[in-house]
Formats: sequence, structure tokens, C-alpha cells
Amino acid sequence: MNKIDMHIHTNASDGIFSPTEIVDWSVRLGLKGIAITDHDTIDGIEEALIASKKYSEFLIIPGIELNTIYNNEEIHLLGYFIQHTNNDIIQTTKAIKNHRLKRAHDMIKKLNAMHFNITFSEVQRIAKNGAIGRPHIARILVHKGYTTSVEEAFQKFLQKGRPAYVERFKLTIEEGIEMISKAKGVPVLAHPGLMDQSIDIRTLIHKGIKGIEVYHIKHSDLQQQEFLQYAKENHLFITGGSDYHDHIVKGVPSIGRVTVPYHSIIEMKRRFSKKE
Ligand code: AMP
Ligand code: ZN
Ligand code: FE
Ligand code: FE
Repeated sequence: MNKIDMHIHTNASDGIFSPTEIVDWSVRLGLKGIAITDHDTIDGIEEALIASKKYSEFLIIPGIELNTIYNNEEIHLLGYFIQHTNNDIIQTTKAIKNHRLKRAHDMIKKLNAMHFNITFSEVQRIAKNGAIGRPHIARILVHKGYTTSVEEAFQKFLQKGRPAYVERFKLTIEEGIEMISKAKGVPVLAHPGLMDQSIDIRTLIHKGIKGIEVYHIKHSDLQQQEFLQYAKENHLFITGGSDYHDHIVKGVPSIGRVTVPYHSIIEMKRRFSKKE
């Protein structure tokens, strides 16, 4: 196989596997490479790079997924081939992580006020040093029997408009693009099929986005065709990935359910680094 899954979360954010486990599984599943794209953090990248050295020719693309805001709507922005040692990105992601800590405290307070017995140290125990997100809190609600699934925890309590929801700190789309560009990365629009459909992709692209996540586990075939055509017409990089977090089938994590060809990603790297 010559395939790369360009959208993977590790336990540096809200995935359940460590970067090393993700790399080992990806190799076993026959992938040629993966992009580590944790929410708002670059903390998983170094470990993934080290783990990949055991294998000949397994490619790790250092990446990030930023939740940004544009016109009051949430836009997810992927950054690929970032220099994770860049000081700006280190400082900004650190600040965002601290905001996430505070937000977790606030969400727990709300849940406590609703008489759910859940503590910050429980959340921290499963999030470890990772960037804390709602999925961590959801998993505890399931573990304690307050809800039967993570999905139900979101629907009842954690999603926007629900009683334990707390707004997350977000960069503007312009700040996100700037941060990725400063770290020499390629800014790519994540899963446009999931963003508010009133948003015009063209206005986002004009801000400096270089690619589109055409293929995503939650995109329909029709959406993929549309995005593919748009990307081709506008000479944008075409990426895709499974947005892997925690799905497991018969003991095997479902990494690589969505992939793109290795050569197209190498081309992306080559073309982009030429322009720098
Ligand atoms: P946070 O970063 O804390 O805002 O949490 C966002 C993450 O929660 C997303 O990346 C998804 O992994 C997960 N998520 C969001 N909405 C849902 C939902 N309805 N059901 C399950 N997981 C969700
Ligand atoms: Zn997530
Ligand atoms: Fe996303
Ligand atoms: Fe994601």
C-alpha cells in the first residue's frame, strides 16, 4: 500500500492511543505514513517521530488541527509539515492548552451543580498531560454510568446549547493561518462538509488556505466530488484522513479508513517548500 492517513488524533489531545501506539498500528495496517493532527497541540509529534524510526520509510507528517473562528462560526484548520520546534507555535499552543484546563474546571463545576459526581483529577487522569477536551469528560460520564455513550453525553450535556457546555478559546481563522505559516506549515481547510454550510469556501481560501480536506470519514460521496472539483479548479492541495480518535473493531483501531496516495503528499511537500 502507498497510502497516508492525513488526520489522526493521539492522546496528546483527545485520541485514546499514544503516538507510539498509533505509529505501530499504522505500520501493521500497511500504511505508508500518517499525519499527527492533534487539537491545538504539537505535543504528540516528537514521540511519533521517534517511534517511526524503528521502521524503514514510514512517514510522519508533523501537523496540528486548530479550532478557529470566522464570522462567529467554527472552522477547523489543519496545518501540515509544521516545524514543531518553532517558538511561536510552542508558545501559542501552550496558552491554548492552559485555556482548555480552565475550561475543563468550568465544565466540571457545571456538572457538579447538576449533582454529577465528577472531579477534575478524574478527568486529568484520563487526559494525562494531553490537551483536555470534552471527549475526556464524556468518557467519565459513560464510565460512571451517567450516560450510556460518549455521543449521548454530548447530546445531553456537552454540546453547544447543553447545560455543561463552555465555550473554548479560539483563534481567528487569520491567526490560525498565520501561526501555521510562521511554523512553515501548509494551512488546509479541515472537513468543509462539517462546517456551517452558509460559509463560502472561497472567502476562506482567499485568506491563505492552500488545501482542502476533500476526503473525510463524515463526507458524503457527493460532497467529496464537489470539494475535489473545487480543489482542482483552484489548484489547492487535496488531502484526506479518517479523523481517527478511538474507534476499534475486534481489537483493531480503525486507522486508515480514509487515505490519500503517498505521492500526492510528497508532491504537496515539494511544491510548498519550493515556494518558501
Ligand atoms: P473540544 O475540543 O473539547 O471542544 O471537543 C471537540 C471534540 O469532541 C471533537 O474533536 C470530537 O472529537 C468530539 N465531539 C464533538 N461533538 C461530538 C458529538 N456530538 N459526539 C461525540 N464526539 C463529539
Ligand atoms: Zn477530537
Ligand atoms: Fe475537526
Ligand atoms: Fe480532528
